[in-house]
Amino acid sequence: MAKLSDLPLRSNLVGKAPYGAPQDPVPVSLNVNENTHPISEEVLTDIVASLAQAVRNVNRYPDREATELRTELANYLGHSLSFEQVWAANGSNEVLQQVLQAFGGPGRTLLSFTPTYSMYPLLADGTDTGWVAVPRPADYALSPEFVAAALAEHQPDIAIICGPNNPTGTPLTRETILAAYDAFDGILIVDEAYHEFDDDNSSAIELLPGRHRLLVSRTMSKAFAFAGVRLGYLAADSAVIDALRLVRLPYHLSALTQAAATTALRHSQAMLSTVDAIRAERDRLAHELTAMGYRVHDSGANFLLVGGFVDPEAMFAALFERGILVRNLGIDGHLRITAGTPEETGQVIEAIREITAGVGVAA
Ligand code: PMP
Repeated sequence: MAKLSDLPLRSNLVGKAPYGAPQDPVPVSLNVNENTHPISEEVLTDIVASLAQAVRNVNRYPDREATELRTELANYLGHSLSFEQVWAANGSNEVLQQVLQAFGGPGRTLLSFTPTYSMYPLLADGTDTGWVAVPRPADYALSPEFVAAALAEHQPDIAIICGPNNPTGTPLTRETILAAYDAFDGILIVDEAYHEFDDDNSSAIELLPGRHRLLVSRTMSKAFAFAGVRLGYLAADSAVIDALRLVRLPYHLSALTQAAATTALRHSQAMLSTVDAIRAERDRLAHELTAMGYRVHDSGANFLLVGGFVDPEAMFAALFERGILVRNLGIDGHLRITAGTPEETGQVIEAIREITAGVGVAA
């Protein structure tokens, strides 16, 4: 068998590792920020019916423009958006890849503020786009002055700001988005994958009118409890959508994906009914871990970045032994934990309490 090094791989991919969050089948999986609640029986029945209908036509290609789905997404987003201002693809990862294909590429750069979503540099590599990582300040919060200075200095072709930020949970303010937009001439993406969990429910979508370089990406993988379907979307000026249509593969969204997502969106209230409960579990997790002496970062998402682990790898392993999967992102002394159902969250709290009794908390 040949090795990777035997192949004429593109030089910017040499030595790189693929995205690889562990996917071990454990009873309590709190490592990739999914909504861990199953979707309701009532909605499920409707989705199955729409899939059955779609299957009858799979001898034909699906709607290349996914017009019905994009119209439903526009209705969900509100703000008088029309489907021409909304794009959809197989997860927001694919949406972001298409943005890089259209606006990045050789000789161009993508900037973000780290630590942030680990796929951004991988998407840059995959599209031959240069990657500029600007470290966040110690508390991970981005002030308008901080982002404006970084963007003015580096003048990237594309900047992406994640709010609330993965993996830190840090919320993003409207003032910071506006300062970022005005500080450079490139494309500004606000990644709102966790928007529905944010206590401040204002969205960058409100800022779209008159700002044709502003792109807001969202996903059905998190609050919508639809990660397995793979549906991400983006709102922007219709000219941006025209640019993305230049790079998308024809028929990129299968008829089954379009049917399932369109039906789910018609039940958006039911699909999002667990959001308040997840936020309550996040806050309970924060409260309990803080009481144990851990340092919990402020979060507007469905997960917490927690500091104070004496040995994060050992804590990860001890939790794993108890059937609980969390995320070790290699941030000194930290682990990231998704808020689950009350039972799951209770289990992770009790397991950490028990393990901590033996090892203590880092000073
Ligand atoms: N953006 C952020 C910040 C994420 O955390 C994720 C998933 N972990 C994504 C985008 C991609 O999600 P998906 O492709 O499932 O829509």
